[in-house]
Amino acid sequence: MANYIYTMEIHKSKKSKLENIDFDNISFGTTFSDHMFICKYSEGLWNSPKILPYGPISLDPSTSSFHYGQSIFEGMKAYKDSKEKVWLFRPEENFKRMNKSSLRLNMPELPKDIFFKGLTKLLKIDSEWIKSGVGNSLYIRPFIFASSPNLQANPSKEYIFFIICCPVKSYYGGRIDVLISEQYSRAASGGVGYAKAAGNYAAQFYPTSLAEKEGCNQIIWTDANNHEYLEEAGTMNVFFRINDTLVTSPLNDRILDGVTRKSVIQLSNSLKIKTEVRPIKVSEIISSHKKGELKEIFGTGTAVVLCPISSFKFDNKKFEINPIKNSFAEILKEKITSIQYNLTDDPFGWRFPVN
Ligand SMILES: *Cc1c(COP(=O)(O)O)cnc(C)c1O
Repeated sequence: MANYIYTMEIHKSKKSKLENIDFDNISFGTTFSDHMFICKYSEGLWNSPKILPYGPISLDPSTSSFHYGQSIFEGMKAYKDSKEKVWLFRPEENFKRMNKSSLRLNMPELPKDIFFKGLTKLLKIDSEWIKSGVGNSLYIRPFIFASSPNLQANPSKEYIFFIICCPVKSYYGGRIDVLISEQYSRAASGGVGYAKAAGNYAAQFYPTSLAEKEGCNQIIWTDANNHEYLEEAGTMNVFFRINDTLVTSPLNDRILDGVTRKSVIQLSNSLKIKTEVRPIKVSEIISSHKKGELKEIFGTGTAVVLCPISSFKFDNKKFEINPIKNSFAEILKEKITSIQYNLTDDPFGWRFPVN
């Protein structure tokens, strides 16, 4: 028997906020579409899926996730092509990862139907919030949090699954300077680094604020044991180009299994770019830089796709990465966005039609 009840209620907002939105001047994550999807879990059952006008909800101050951080999320985007057709990029991967995160946080598995029917219905209702044109997209934030009203430090008996959406534009330009962490860690072996657990991000804010005082925007996280190996950049996976070879760390329980990361690896292999998935030491990129062999560093993630890194700082020394023509970052970004916006064929079957 399925552990959910699937009869969706839909309550549309009386008036759309669309006419008041200046799509050219939106800062990320501050403007939300007209509707949200919500589904509750209680007595062992996902129940009462609803689409409601976007807005605040009321919660008891003892709500479990406020105190113990039992909360996970996903991040994905919807894209519109020139014929007004809406596409998702590998949403199945986000769905699987969400349940992987839930399992690690001792949260109930979400049925696939709830995720996909909620998501596609919401996108159809709010499709005018997705603007066509490369760079425009609707950022989608599914999340689940423990909602039992009590202070017992136990797994909650109740949960709420939400999907909210915000229109975004991609930002070009701007330097990203990173600090290689010699003291703080994002994740440790046996921990929750591979899950999109809310607390992972809270723990990054303080070290990142210290890095900002040193003139850096983000931190490249190193392994928690000896700070010897390079793992992730801020909330992105990270790639290094040494001469003409791309290198990225293998997955382990400290590293988030990014959809963009795995797409970049597949694409670069298909483009015959030599790609190595292997542990990479801080000392290796420093010696490569000294020899002039470190050509590029870039981060990957849904929000940015690929984000070139301009410099890194380590042991109080700054190492510049000079921009180059025909960078792998540019080539790979162009290929991925062309697939996302339905501008080319889709050899890997990554596009998912919404309407
Ligand atoms: C979400 C996330 C990524 C990128 O994952 P994508 O699926 O590519 O968006 C990388 N690292 C961390 C820590 C993340 O939270």
